[in-house]
Amino acid sequence: MRINVDYDRCTGHGICESLAADLFEVGGDGMVHLLSAGLPEDRRAVVESAVAECPTQALSLDG
Ligand code: SF4
Repeated sequence: MRINVDYDRCTGHGICESLAADLFEVGGDGMVHLLSAGLPEDRRAVVESAVAECPTQALSLDG
């Protein structure tokens, strides 16, 4: 499972971070940063929630 971030769309709302602070962090640059290169399969549900709830559709999921 891999998360893709479209940095042209991310506006740093931080909804993803509020759902999974161990996976997403909004940096001082106002963009989300992924904190884990390999995403554990058991976090799929929360990652899918982040993808669905991102207000700018900046997140997508491969695999
Ligand atoms: S919820 Fe979407 S717009 Fe907000 S920080 Fe996360 S990826 Fe960026």
